[in-house]
Amino acid sequence: MLLRRALVLGGSTEARLLATRIAADRRLWGVISLAGRTSAPLAHDLPTRVGGFGGVEGLTRYLIEERISHVVDATHPFAARITANARAACAAAGAPLLVLTRPPWVAAPGDRWIEVAGNAAAARALGDSPRRVFLAIGRQGVADFRVAPQHQYFLRVIEAPNAGDLPPSCEVIFGRGPFALEDEIALMRDRRIEIIVTKNSGGALAYAKIEAARALGLDVVMIARPARGDAAMTHDIDAAMAFLFS
Ligand code: NAP
Repeated sequence: MLLRRALVLGGSTEARLLATRIAADRRLWGVISLAGRTSAPLAHDLPTRVGGFGGVEGLTRYLIEERISHVVDATHPFAARITANARAACAAAGAPLLVLTRPPWVAAPGDRWIEVAGNAAAARALGDSPRRVFLAIGRQGVADFRVAPQHQYFLRVIEAPNAGDLPPSCEVIFGRGPFALEDEIALMRDRRIEIIVTKNSGGALAYAKIEAARALGLDVVMIARPARGDAAMTHDIDAAMAFLFS
């Protein structure tokens, strides 16, 4: 069998898990690609390249030059641009593509979700009256909440945001998951949080805040995932491994 040469587009837990599986399989060669947003990314078991490719053209060139036979797009479900680029570049280079992503969270009994389509709608959903808002959206979209400066925000991030992006009343809390339920409840109580804003990222590592909101009876503004095109998709690492031998 010809050696398979896999490119994993990373930046997610699923990508790290898949990298470990590929590294352990002698029939596969693989490389994982990170955008470079995090200055101290977690280690991966595959060779790692960091930084953008230079749009569709750059990614197409990379696929051809590196003789990539299969691409798994295991980027975060909200990373829509790289997903669109991967789709176009794989079509141009003739490389099969699979999107590996975790399933979205689904509201359970007791959840008080307000489902919205994006950050602007999330900011509107907070309402006119000042509220104490836990922002679990990462640092990239925080500037979208400057239109609602009446609220007191608590923004949890892995890396420091740009100061100019923050709404006027905003405490930055540093933390990297997984988070334990009791710690999330303690945090919500300590900061007297009234409402949580989160992306529907899915997965277990960040789910405790949703459970904490349920336990405390808090509203959650749940930002829906962006459309990611119609590429083949799976939630299953075994299926992603099988794809690499297809
Ligand atoms: P994005 O908007 O979809 O992509 C912006 C640009 O970043 C892409 O056009 C590409 O640059 C580069 N890029 C993105 N992912 C890349 C990768 N894995 N390898 C090489 N280049 C990549 O992405 P984003 O939302 O900024 O997310 C960036 C990274 O952070 C992704 O890898 C994603 O998995 C991870 N992440 C995102 C979120 C989120 O909420 N968006 C949350 C957690 C982790 P070029 O056009 O130059 O190739």
